[in-house]
Amino acid sequence: MSQTRVLAAGAVAAMLSIACSAPSFPPPGSVAEVADRIDALRQELDGSPGPLPVSFAAAGTATQRVPVELLADGFPEAPDLDMSHPVFVAEWPSGSQLVVDPGLATRACPDFGTPAEWVGGEEIVCAGERDPWAERIRPDSVAAVVFSHLHVDHVSGLSEICRLCGDVPCQVPVALSSLQETSDETHEAAGRGWLDEADVAGCIVPTRLGAEAQDDGRPRAIAADLPGAFWMPLPGHTPGSQLTFVFRRVEGELVGYVIGGDVVNYAPAICEDGHPKPWLYRTFVVREDEERQAWNRALLRELDARGYRVLVNHHLDAERTEGRLCPPGEAGQEALGQIRSIETGMPVMKAWLLSGS
Ligand SMILES: [Zn+2]
Repeated sequence: MSQTRVLAAGAVAAMLSIACSAPSFPPPGSVAEVADRIDALRQELDGSPGPLPVSFAAAGTATQRVPVELLADGFPEAPDLDMSHPVFVAEWPSGSQLVVDPGLATRACPDFGTPAEWVGGEEIVCAGERDPWAERIRPDSVAAVVFSHLHVDHVSGLSEICRLCGDVPCQVPVALSSLQETSDETHEAAGRGWLDEADVAGCIVPTRLGAEAQDDGRPRAIAADLPGAFWMPLPGHTPGSQLTFVFRRVEGELVGYVIGGDVVNYAPAICEDGHPKPWLYRTFVVREDEERQAWNRALLRELDARGYRVLVNHHLDAERTEGRLCPPGEAGQEALGQIRSIETGMPVMKAWLLSGS
């Protein structure tokens, strides 16, 4: 075969592999090993008197009722879900704030909801400009903005934070990991476009989150002046996906919150094996690494069992039993089998929840 043909065949094979398979991210050890490392961090924090966040809150930037079959396999009887699009804000005694996943911008919101409407969802309800940004986020106090991954529904809300600056010049530090910067996953690259747009407004200061970061299952500090806030690469949904940890004391007890991003979009899917996202979604919409995603779900299940408050971005009002998403023991398995109602009556929109004032 001529060299040209070899090159051509190689190029075709490469294109086919791009079209047919998701990038592969082998797990960085066993689930128990990685959970042990996170536990070691929790113990270290528990033994130190350093300042932790005085509050940790979330608010909806949009909500949309959708059939659960659009989000996870294996729950045919589950009632429709009010899919949440939250922004998370932690605040320290110094007044410094950490923003995780600014959510959907007012401008991006209606279009984002359209594809789900085509396949059985209701019209998306957008929070609008007044909520929730103005209520809690002070752009000049934001010490870092981080993202579970760079999809439009997690990134575009940054422009609303910039809007709060008004005529007063402000500089919001936005921290991407090297894995996020180099990811060429289609939707992640599109998310970077939303960052560029906010940057044009002169509002953001790009910074690097852990320049040497590897997918090694180790949590890392987000910033020296944000004690108790950590991130850890967790590729699988996208190459640049990551977990965020926020530790704070609630009534004297150290509580670890885990912002799970889009590892799952329906909380019960972490509680037992075999509930991936629908095949069409993970093959043609966002090319997930399903092998790694199964491990990622098992990690969230393990953290839930060890007492962490696992937060599923798009299912923030998931029902909990004694703080757990997955009820323990045999009774818990039975409850899961019956599919619990998610209608808790808690308003997903405008709700500042979790803990602290
Ligand atoms: Zn999402």
